[in-house]
Amino acid sequence: MAGRIHIIGAGLAGLSAAVRLSSQGRVVNVYESASYAGGRCRSFHDANLDRVIDNGNHLLLSGNRAALAFLREIGAADSVTGPSPAVFPFLDLDGGLRWQVKPDRGAIPWSILSAWRRVPGSRLRDYLWGLQLARARATDSVTDCLGADNLLFRRFWKPLAVSVLNTAAEEGAARLLWPVIRETFGRGEAACRPLIARHGLSDSFVTPATAFLKRHGAPVAFNRRLRRLGFDGERLTTLDFGDSQLEVQDGDSVILAVPPLIAAELVPGLETPTDSRAIVNGHFCLAEEAQEISFCGLIGGTAQWLFIRGDIVSVTVSAADDLAAQPTELIAERLWSEVATALDLGDAELGPYRIVKEKRATFAQTPEQVRRRPGARTRWCNLHLAGDWTDTGLPATIEGAIRSGHNVAQSVIYL
Ligand SMILES: Cc1cc2nc3c(=O)[nH]c(=O)nc-3n(C[C@H](O)[C@H](O)[C@H](O)COP(=O)(O)OP(=O)(O)OC[C@H]3O[C@@H](n4cnc5c(N)ncnc54)[C@H](O)[C@@H]3O)c2cc1C
Repeated sequence: MAGRIHIIGAGLAGLSAAVRLSSQGRVVNVYESASYAGGRCRSFHDANLDRVIDNGNHLLLSGNRAALAFLREIGAADSVTGPSPAVFPFLDLDGGLRWQVKPDRGAIPWSILSAWRRVPGSRLRDYLWGLQLARARATDSVTDCLGADNLLFRRFWKPLAVSVLNTAAEEGAARLLWPVIRETFGRGEAACRPLIARHGLSDSFVTPATAFLKRHGAPVAFNRRLRRLGFDGERLTTLDFGDSQLEVQDGDSVILAVPPLIAAELVPGLETPTDSRAIVNGHFCLAEEAQEISFCGLIGGTAQWLFIRGDIVSVTVSAADDLAAQPTELIAERLWSEVATALDLGDAELGPYRIVKEKRATFAQTPEQVRRRPGARTRWCNLHLAGDWTDTGLPATIEGAIRSGHNVAQSVIYL
């Protein structure tokens, strides 16, 4: 009989591995140190706003095939929504210019041949220059590859790179951006439709996943922090949770799906990314409820993306370590003034708000840190790694986390 699979961590990597394995009839146990699942991708009730909000706005693209397969598996495919055909509205806060990026239907972006369909101020050769990404060297930053002295960079590549890599374009690894372009924009409009959780991240990704696991006899055990691993030769033999110890039987496997610094503490000699970048989100209450969920890219200010859902407007700032060090009130005022400009609210006063600082939102996706990503295998035959920081070839995103969960599940099935 196939052995039991112990999964440590109920973020998206752990949950997606657990869902895949339990749907294949494997016996799965999931242990999570927090009292909730979802890790860095979750919703919570905020008392200031008296609303359920997300820890941060998360944007998916319709070409994120592992993420969409996960949503289908847990029965939540309809819980994400977005404009179809794909459209990305932008506003330059410095001057007020608005434009839209509308990807072409096919893989070849014919529309860039007409100046009026290009990003304002950009030239055809700026687009062609983007193909450099396909040839990026492991040491190249996004700006090494694309240059920074044209309007296409300022109005498209830079906001895209900072949000995908959560790292400034000057230091972000160009190599990680290319697979995203290839799997989304590079496949035409149908693969790059923006998708947003209709009612929140937990409602889409987390609650249906934990319900699925419960139905399949693999409920998540909460408040179970793994403190130590015990090894004997080539095998992992014990999981030490402090108040209890669990023997890992012959034929059992363990998937460690915790953040990189915790994995490095638990696994002797494991090299992981050590540096991280913050993401700051500001959530504000609007006087009126919007009829539709919408979003907009912001250039030339502090906020980079703006999302409206119901009567909550949320703005995101990636690679935000400097901002995260500022006092919360100051951040709220700064972001609110940009929201007021973007939504034409005049001098509307700042009302109830919540600023969420995720100080270790993702690892710093620089060439140097990317080199430190380990694969899923370890030198112990029954211990595997998963998480957005492992070497998936993708950036640290929902898609990367879920794909790592699926990949590790696949290798455990074929052990
Ligand atoms: C603010 C913000 C905005 C983001 N925006 C986007 C976006 O727009 N698009 C996108 O695709 N991605 C986005 N991301 C990235 C995405 O959220 C992450 O890539 C993904 O959630 C990582 O999942 P994970 O399972 O690898 O890690 P985690 O979510 O960190 O999961 C690890 C789990 O392990 C648990 N754990 C830790 N230590 C232990 C222990 N000792 N024992 C047991 N359990 C333990 C943790 O509590 C956690 O639940 C964003 C992230 C943040 C923070």
